[in-house]
Amino acid sequence: MARYDVVVIGAGAAGLSAGALLAKEGKSVLVCEKSPYLGGRALAVKDQGFTVNIGGHLIEDGGSGITKIFENVGKELIHGKVNAEMPVWDHEKLEWGSIRDRYAADKTELKKVIKALVNTSWEELDRWDDRNLRDWIHQYTDDQGVVDLFEYISVLECLTDEPWDHSASDNLFVRKMHYEEKHMAAYSCWPGQGWDGLWQDLADACREKGGEIRMNTSVSRVVIENRQIKGIEIPRDPIINSKETAEVEFVETGCVISTLPVWNVLNVIPENDLPNWYTGQIKHLAQDKYRVSWLGLYIATEEPVYQYAPQELSTWVHDPVAGLPGFFFTQSNMDPSTAPEGQHLHVMGGVIPGSKASDKEYVRETFDKFEEGMGIMYPGLKNPIWRRRTLVFDPGFGVIQKPCLVGSYRPHWRAPNIPGLYFASETFKSRGIGVDRAARAALTCVEDYLGRRLDGYEETWRY
Ligand SMILES: Cc1cc2nc3c(=O)[nH]c(=O)nc-3n(C[C@H](O)[C@H](O)[C@H](O)COP(=O)(O)OP(=O)(O)OC[C@H]3O[C@@H](n4cnc5c(N)ncnc54)[C@H](O)[C@@H]3O)c2cc1C
Repeated sequence: MARYDVVVIGAGAAGLSAGALLAKEGKSVLVCEKSPYLGGRALAVKDQGFTVNIGGHLIEDGGSGITKIFENVGKELIHGKVNAEMPVWDHEKLEWGSIRDRYAADKTELKKVIKALVNTSWEELDRWDDRNLRDWIHQYTDDQGVVDLFEYISVLECLTDEPWDHSASDNLFVRKMHYEEKHMAAYSCWPGQGWDGLWQDLADACREKGGEIRMNTSVSRVVIENRQIKGIEIPRDPIINSKETAEVEFVETGCVISTLPVWNVLNVIPENDLPNWYTGQIKHLAQDKYRVSWLGLYIATEEPVYQYAPQELSTWVHDPVAGLPGFFFTQSNMDPSTAPEGQHLHVMGGVIPGSKASDKEYVRETFDKFEEGMGIMYPGLKNPIWRRRTLVFDPGFGVIQKPCLVGSYRPHWRAPNIPGLYFASETFKSRGIGVDRAARAALTCVEDYLGRRLDGYEETWRY
């Protein structure tokens, strides 16, 4: 019977980070991934000459997170092109402006807020899990331009549908990191090796150090007896219908790192083995209404489309027809290889409430309105040569980051009653954005399992 020190469930950003770090530390590790693709929710696929990032678009790590994990395992996360401008749509005047115009008249107000943020400890920011960003900013300034800067960034980073009710702590953790590491309010870059190259590099790092990654391998159950992990089960042979009980392959281990999001983790970890209050936290966050959901639109044009600069990342809180908050950027300006030569691939999304994502009629009608609104904001999009629509809901981007849904309000990454059972997911207790957050969650669990901080991380915060 196969035995490993650690089994990792999932080969997305968290699972591959955990696998590569553990293999580097000399642990025998098996990563199981149910799909044929690496990267999980941050997956890139080919479609008629385009490379479409169905998930991850831009990386938001100033250097201390996923970038450092790559370094640690002997690879490089290449920081490619960085977003240069942040145009914002004024939905009352129906025109574009630069975010700078909103706060630049009196920069002293912004500087005051930045100074306060840099001087605030991580521990103090933790105390803002139950309050909104606006309240924190108003301690230092009433300048609406500064509030706008922070709140528009929360739309871009977290796809919040109500920016005025965004959590202070989750946003400020990232703002503080970006100011300290990159001296800017928000930092986002394209991965130089492309999204598929990114995950391949981490998988290589894992395998080069003896780690194993099994694709098309779905873990059906973590076996726990008397509060001890015994191993995992993998169903053998395809199951023809749902009434069948598959024969299983048993893999022995004393440690499992699950990277499954709150929405499906209890399909694999038996609920009865965890305390009620803990599964209650998981189920609370897993509700549809708390799932970040949006209408994703990919449009290709023959002519370039942008407002201020080709590498801009623009945002708004009400598009002119559907009234949705959203974002837009031109992917082929970040990486020309993602579109056929001479064509321009634009990516945009309009945030919808998760509670409405299952309503097919609402989604169809709102997609039409959203696309019409995009044509008003960007007239150059009105004549697409190619397009693709994606409803982002299952899987979702993440759990919405409103007060009382972040930080200490999330289930802990360590199972409360079962030694060696970890939840390395950005939907559990964690900080950061997207893939960087997932990778940091993995680092936290790996360090806890090893019982020490990894070399080079002694000075960085851990959550
Ligand atoms: C449309 C979209 C756009 C996004 N844009 C960005 C962005 O621009 N920047 C950014 O940083 N982040 C972005 N994100 C968020 C980012 O993709 C996620 O936060 C991150 O990929 C989560 O990684 P993870 O490893 O925690 O989880 P996942 O990627 O969800 O990985 C979990 C893995 O587990 C596998 N799995 C599930 N069940 C089983 C099982 N029973 N057995 C074995 N394997 C199993 C899944 O197939 C999956 O591969 C976006 C997400 C979406 C959906």
